Amino acid sequence: MMNAGAVIPILGDQLSHEIAGLRAACRERDCVLMVEAHAEAYYAPYHKQKLTFIFSAMRHFAEELEALGWNVRYLKLDDPGNSGDLYLEIERVVQAVSADRVILTEPGNWRLRETLVGHFKRSSISYELLEDDRFLCSHGEFEAWAQDRKQLRMEHFYRRMRRKSGLLMRGDAPIGGKWNFDAENRKTLANGDGLPSPIFFAPGSLTKDVMSLVRQSFAGRFGTLETFNFAVTANQAAAALDNFIENALPHFGDYQDAMLRDSRYVYHSVLSQYINVGLLDPLAVCRRVEAAYHDGHAPLNAVEGFIRQIIGWREFVRGIYWHFMPSYLDMNYFNHKRKLPEFYWTADTEMLCLRSSIEQTRDSAYAHHIQRLMLTGNFAMLAGVDPHQVHEWYLAVYADAFEWVEAPNTLGMSQFADGGLMSSKPYAASGNYIKRMSNYCDGCRYSVAKRSGPDACPFNYLYWNFLSRNQDKLKQNVRLRPVYRTWDRIKDSRGPDIKRDTERFLNSLY
Ligand code: FAD
Ligand code: SF4
Repeated sequence: MMNAGAVIPILGDQLSHEIAGLRAACRERDCVLMVEAHAEAYYAPYHKQKLTFIFSAMRHFAEELEALGWNVRYLKLDDPGNSGDLYLEIERVVQAVSADRVILTEPGNWRLRETLVGHFKRSSISYELLEDDRFLCSHGEFEAWAQDRKQLRMEHFYRRMRRKSGLLMRGDAPIGGKWNFDAENRKTLANGDGLPSPIFFAPGSLTKDVMSLVRQSFAGRFGTLETFNFAVTANQAAAALDNFIENALPHFGDYQDAMLRDSRYVYHSVLSQYINVGLLDPLAVCRRVEAAYHDGHAPLNAVEGFIRQIIGWREFVRGIYWHFMPSYLDMNYFNHKRKLPEFYWTADTEMLCLRSSIEQTRDSAYAHHIQRLMLTGNFAMLAGVDPHQVHEWYLAVYADAFEWVEAPNTLGMSQFADGGLMSSKPYAASGNYIKRMSNYCDGCRYSVAKRSGPDACPFNYLYWNFLSRNQDKLKQNVRLRPVYRTWDRIKDSRGPDIKRDTERFLNSLY
């Protein structure tokens, strides 16, 4: 018997023509539903550019589907008929088109998946929940890999993904004889002269409509909208990828950890938001990058470094998220309780590295990995900020932030709130690291060379204070033994100053 037809909800991060739900659907018979849902848009205080990017990309995708002959029902945020609730809208359309079922590609967000599936189970609507197969590693494969392992480490997982994908492999061996060329990827830059620029896009009329909506409905939100220039279609995102491969990829590896005051992008790709919403396919991106190696356009350390971020880190953090949710969001290994300092929203701080990074986040909804990890993340952990508040900030301010990728990076990698489930030691560093990897310190009101007193770089004493107050949790960590040997040597002479400076500085923040 012929089905009456299905409703195919497409979420804001499922904007791929090859998404499982569309592959399972019939263009002539089924109805695609896309909703700008209030419940999602107001879930966190999202950056204005992030909202604009997602809504505009959704509207463009709906237009593309319609042009291809799909029957699309699209509800804008301010449509009078939009209840704001995704499930209610699904129910309504099922009734309106007399559909006999819903075909849903699994949401990437644990809460949304639970909510929708819970509703379906209590209702009489039949539904199919399809796994999102835009990832190399399925849930089942990650679980099988994680089972029985004492520790979950990206490096082991990554080798499996290399073998599985065949990327940069010769038979069963990694090309170049090594799996990882990170040791070559720690060069620094004096300034931003001659660096390539990502390509950006002037907002078209659809995007301008969304910008007006965001200006009106989210007026008080963090972020500058005037500088919005993200790609909002797959074609534009493909042009951004071409530009990255042509101009930045060859040096991506060398300067992966470098931070510059005058160049926010250095040699990074600025592609994560496109990959995460579905405008670019992650594996196709990796194959293009691999081809640049085989063509002699980019060296192995750059290409391996880039591919590792995607089939290694990106796939690994997704596995961690689903493996440990829902308890992952509440983890707080160090029992940190401080409020997130207000300057994370205002950039009003004299610490130049943080001010610069937060200003750039405000202006572009972007910061590269080391800025997220070693500046804003490192500071929050050293200062003892409640990791859940840190997580909420990252989720809100970056255009690429979706909980499945943001939470493990923030709570696990940057705050060590999971006690080491995904990292072997906390990413804690003093001002010395920031000085070595950036050009911020030269213009800063604090002195990175000073260890104590009101002019000393706050990272210097916060670092030792963090290690000292968490000795019981960290001293046995093999990787931190040399650091604790140093602490044992200096604690009597410097300990009192470190405690005094830390208290004075943290009191001044609140
Ligand atoms: P590039 O440096 O050019 O890297 C290439 C690609 O690799 C990225 O586009 C991205 O798809 C992938 N990638 C790189 N590192 C990671 C990683 N650690 N985890 C997952 N994918 C990675 N990434 C997000 O996509 N969304 C987030 O919400 C997010 N939150 C983060 C929060 C913190 C505290 C930290 C430390 C990292 C976070 N990351 C997040 C990872 C990483 O910082 C971003 O993917 C990267 O900065 C995006 O910029 P890019 O596209 O220029 O990346
Ligand atoms: Fe940041 Fe300290 Fe350097 Fe100032 S001196 S830019 S606070 S690391």
